[in-house]
Amino acid sequence: MAQTLDLGSRVELVSMDPHFDDISIALYCPDGPGRPCYQAHTYSRRPGADERIAGVARAMQVLGGMEQTSAGSLSFSCGHAHRLAVKRLFLEACKLPPEQPIKPRPLHIFDKKAHATIAVASLGQGLYEAHTTEQVRGVERRVVTIARGLIRLGEMDEVADQPNQARFGCGFAHDALLGLLLIRAPNVRAAVREAEAMASRGVLSAPSAQE
Ligand SMILES: [Zn+2]
Repeated sequence: MAQTLDLGSRVELVSMDPHFDDISIALYCPDGPGRPCYQAHTYSRRPGADERIAGVARAMQVLGGMEQTSAGSLSFSCGHAHRLAVKRLFLEACKLPPEQPIKPRPLHIFDKKAHATIAVASLGQGLYEAHTTEQVRGVERRVVTIARGLIRLGEMDEVADQPNQARFGCGFAHDALLGLLLIRAPNVRAAVREAEAMASRGVLSAPSAQE
């Protein structure tokens, strides 16, 4: 049980890892002083499980711009938790096939509903603006929908009178994290459903199921 206590509270769970023997992988937020940090963990004792966890942590660093602390956990240089965004980051990191090279996501996506590319520009101090150069009917509404999606998925702040903008409350740019959230921003409801499915799939293995 000491191990459970050391790990702190559980933030997110992938109950059956599709890329490693269906082990369950959880993300914890270790308690303690200093900046909020996160630790991926499995109770599986299978050979290779530790390496798989290390791979998930590496993917979170690349895809979310997180840093490894001296204790081996992950945190943001701004010192903020960004807890909801980290949940999404963890799920996406677990979904990627480990054999594929991992690169940060670009700050643009092709929006299937508008049939147009929508980009997000970093305006500095944590402020981002969704925009498009394409003249497609209804695209302006999709730009706003995507900005709203970023606000919901990333716990970002609204900007008064700027419906296509979103701001990280910490006041720092998080380009990699923004690019990751952008994948799901066009359809937040589907992202929430997917997170629920990934947490509840299969049978939970003991200590991690106790919350
Ligand atoms: Zn931040």
